Amino acid sequence: MAISCIAPTSRTSRCCRRRCPFRCSRCSRTWSIAGPAQRRGGSACHGAVGGKTGTTNDYRDAWFVGFNSAVVVGVWVGYDQPARIREGGTGARVALPIWADFMRRTAQRLPAHAFQPPGDIQTVELCNVSYLRPVDGCPVYAEYFKDGDDIPSRLCTIHQGDIKQRAQRAIQGSSAPSARD
Ligand SMILES: [Zn+2]
Repeated sequence: MAISCIAPTSRTSRCCRRRCPFRCSRCSRTWSIAGPAQRRGGSACHGAVGGKTGTTNDYRDAWFVGFNSAVVVGVWVGYDQPARIREGGTGARVALPIWADFMRRTAQRLPAHAFQPPGDIQTVELCNVSYLRPVDGCPVYAEYFKDGDDIPSRLCTIHQGDIKQRAQRAIQGSSAPSARD
């Protein structure tokens, strides 16, 4: 079985240097952020980290590619001659722990810092369920948009909201949630 670690690279594109790390580190919908890595790695990972697992059919390849502000690391686990790693050998189970251990071991030499948002990033609070503008009762989170992004303007249609928000939603033509919501 081979275990490959690919890291780090200093040759990032201008786009990545300026925008992607911050937004990727904040994008909880498409990236598995700190939580999974920290759960798998215990206290291995501090600060903002991001990454993505991958697993091929029949558990023949598993990987985790992740980053913090100092380093980007990809871990692949598999056999030279394709074969099942083991039942349930997903990227989260076999590659992520290696990644977390690597990050822990390199933390002193490559200390990570918080990602700083670029100047053209706009922070918008959205409903964590509908991903629309929040009304009263919505669980909210901060989403980050750059110039030219399509920022949601419609109000959440899942949560009730107050009377003014319900009226505004009716003007938008959005259906109101049932009273029990
Ligand atoms: Zn909502």
